[in-house]
Amino acid sequence: MKVVVVGAGYAGAFAANRVAKRVKGAEVTVVNERPEFVERIRLHQQVAGTAVAATPLTSMLRAGIVSRTGTVERIGDGAVILDDGESIGFDHLFLAVGSTVRPLPGTVPVGTWEGAVRARAALAALAAGSTVTVVGGGATGIETATEVAGARPDLRVRLVAAAVADCLSGRARQRVLAALDRLGVDVVEDGVAEAAVGAVRLRSGREVPSDLTLWAIVAGVPELAARSGLEVDAGGRVVVDEFLRSVSDPRIFAIGDCAAVPGARFGCQTAAPQAGAAVDALARLAEGRAPEPYALHYVARCVSLGGKDAVAQFTQRDDTLRDSHIKGRTAVLFKKIVYTGTKYGTRKAVGA
Ligand SMILES: Cc1cc2nc3c(=O)[nH]c(=O)nc-3n(C[C@H](O)[C@H](O)[C@H](O)COP(=O)(O)OP(=O)(O)OC[C@H]3O[C@@H](n4cnc5c(N)ncnc54)[C@H](O)[C@@H]3O)c2cc1C
Repeated sequence: MKVVVVGAGYAGAFAANRVAKRVKGAEVTVVNERPEFVERIRLHQQVAGTAVAATPLTSMLRAGIVSRTGTVERIGDGAVILDDGESIGFDHLFLAVGSTVRPLPGTVPVGTWEGAVRARAALAALAAGSTVTVVGGGATGIETATEVAGARPDLRVRLVAAAVADCLSGRARQRVLAALDRLGVDVVEDGVAEAAVGAVRLRSGREVPSDLTLWAIVAGVPELAARSGLEVDAGGRVVVDEFLRSVSDPRIFAIGDCAAVPGARFGCQTAAPQAGAAVDALARLAEGRAPEPYALHYVARCVSLGGKDAVAQFTQRDDTLRDSHIKGRTAVLFKKIVYTGTKYGTRKAVGA
């Protein structure tokens, strides 16, 4: 059986390893845009210079998996077509192309590897006293602003967002706001209308100085599925059945950020379990057994606050927030376990 995996983030790398482990006789080819596996949940550390968030992809894949660096331009009938014109045939495809960014001109996106590398270099070149504006009040924006403020206390850091930390509630959210305050991050409840060298114009019309503007909003998914004629939702995510198969082509599984699964959010906590469920469905089908449907299984929403602090608010399985949360050193340790556990689980294709 020929299996092709498109995209080697958390979902794709996990799926490739799990197929190699579970599906007898499968020949697995992974196509990824770059030869590195990017730990996207550590990109704020990549930006701030406190960690390197990439590892050679081959070190993440089981022996026997073929790794091909390239961009899939189109998914055809039983084959993918790469940007260099090569066509790779498949019996089954795992589409795991993740999510993307749509930065405002004049800003540097932190949600992609290439953007984070650029942001790190730009940040390192800033003189003391310069101002960094981070756009986006979700986890990515908060983690970026606090990591930069913690690593570069000589800079002025501003976070601009219509709402800050509304992914959390109650005391967990208050904890985030207090940490931003403690780290000296100037929180401006507004949006950015225009970014130019040296300044940004806010939606309210106010202009504020900004020597570097970081776009910390992850929104939308690559257009590959839509371009290839697969049924997608309004956000471009692949519409799937309960086993995560495209409703347009049951040979294709969509997993991670690019799959339209009711109740699922962008997250590594979504990617690996979906990859596990999809591969297990394929393995069972190949063995002539009935597959089991995928079910949401969330645990917590965890936000890092500058390396020395963090908060994790626990959730129900369906991602509904619970009242309980952990903070401080316990949450920092929890977050470290998330980083290392997710990477280990991806390599070993376990834990989902
Ligand atoms: C700073 C930051 C912090 C985060 N923190 C958390 C967190 O604490 N917890 C959490 O759950 N989530 C977090 N997230 C979200 C999480 O990183 C993503 O939801 C997760 O990476 C999605 O995994 P994925 O495998 O679906 O996609 P990705 O990890 O984005 O991987 C997709 C891969 O596909 C490749 N690709 C795309 N198109 C093509 C193509 N046409 N051909 C070939 N390859 C292609 C991409 O280059 C990439 O390598 C964070 C995100 C950011 C940016």
